[in-house]
Amino acid sequence: MKIAAVHTHILDHVLDTTFESASMHFARRQHCLVEIVCDDGTTGWGECLGPAQPNAAVVKAYSAALIGQDPLQTEKLWLELYNRLRDQGQRGLTVTALSGIDIALWDIKGKRFGVPISTLLGGRFRDSVRAYATGSFRRAGVDRVEDNAREVAGYRHEGFHAVKIKIGFGVEEDLRVIEAVRESIGPDMRLMIDANHGYDYLEAVEVGRRAAKFGIDWFEEPVLPEHVSAYRAVRADQPIPVAGGETWHGRYAMHEPLATRAVDIIQPDICGVGGFTEIRRVADMAALHGVRLVPHVWGTAVCLAASLQFMAALLPNPPRRDPLEPILEFDRTENPFRQAVVTTPIEHYRGVVAIPDGPGLGIEIDREALARFALVEA
Ligand SMILES: [Mg+2]
Repeated sequence: MKIAAVHTHILDHVLDTTFESASMHFARRQHCLVEIVCDDGTTGWGECLGPAQPNAAVVKAYSAALIGQDPLQTEKLWLELYNRLRDQGQRGLTVTALSGIDIALWDIKGKRFGVPISTLLGGRFRDSVRAYATGSFRRAGVDRVEDNAREVAGYRHEGFHAVKIKIGFGVEEDLRVIEAVRESIGPDMRLMIDANHGYDYLEAVEVGRRAAKFGIDWFEEPVLPEHVSAYRAVRADQPIPVAGGETWHGRYAMHEPLATRAVDIIQPDICGVGGFTEIRRVADMAALHGVRLVPHVWGTAVCLAASLQFMAALLPNPPRRDPLEPILEFDRTENPFRQAVVTTPIEHYRGVVAIPDGPGLGIEIDREALARFALVEA
């Protein structure tokens, strides 16, 4: 079995309503899928976190080195590709592109042996996970307090046990939003806040101190991801547990936040941190330092499937932990191709998501949907 071809698929959708986090404006949804085809016809799929076209360009730069190689040698291929761009690319797009390739190779490996990737990772501790809804971005032209309060009531109605809302736009307005959201969802539903590194240290500490009374599970990306020491300071100086990690790519980027306990919860994204090969190492590092791991998930059903296979096999730490932990991030923003790219959507039922048990990622790609949502190059 040898690798015969590597393709990228850039999916594109112009949003009906634009929205924004504290760090990014969304006018369209774009994601990059990776397809690796073997000489026996086996095909594996992966996905890259982040800007689709730059990711596709890096995958293309890697692909010549993959042709003719044995796709089962995931560890060896990971290191070979990483070494190719290591001197200029220890973090960022070089690693997010490598993530998409690595996931596709593990999909091939699972299909080759006829088992889900979770079996290759050592077996399952869980067959389903609780999902939390991610939404409440800022939309132009509406009252954000009312808009967010209405949106989260919908998630509660759908059966979600937890919701994460977007803050980082301004201390006073954010606090009004948090209060209104807590009132809307009631006292029992879990609530997380995500600033997408929109604050500086002083603002983050003020928000954390004043928002704690609303019962917040975690405070995600309070400050810029480059400022690991500021994470430590925010963690020390306000009462809400601090989370972060979606922009820390590769185990070396994860080392300092874990070893110095800059976060209470580490959030690697399998499509960004380096695929299955690297996220396993990050999981071991997190366990070693006693830091809880809750994956970041932002993409299509390919990304969801990869995250679920990893979560199925993640060691409970401590061993008595609820088998439905960790919780799955479930993006509720507009993205018509998120589920359309697979023949069987990965949906939640009353806030719980079953982990696919077919070979590899456990999904089948709908090629008609890939064609329908393919980016039309200008
Ligand atoms: Mg986030």
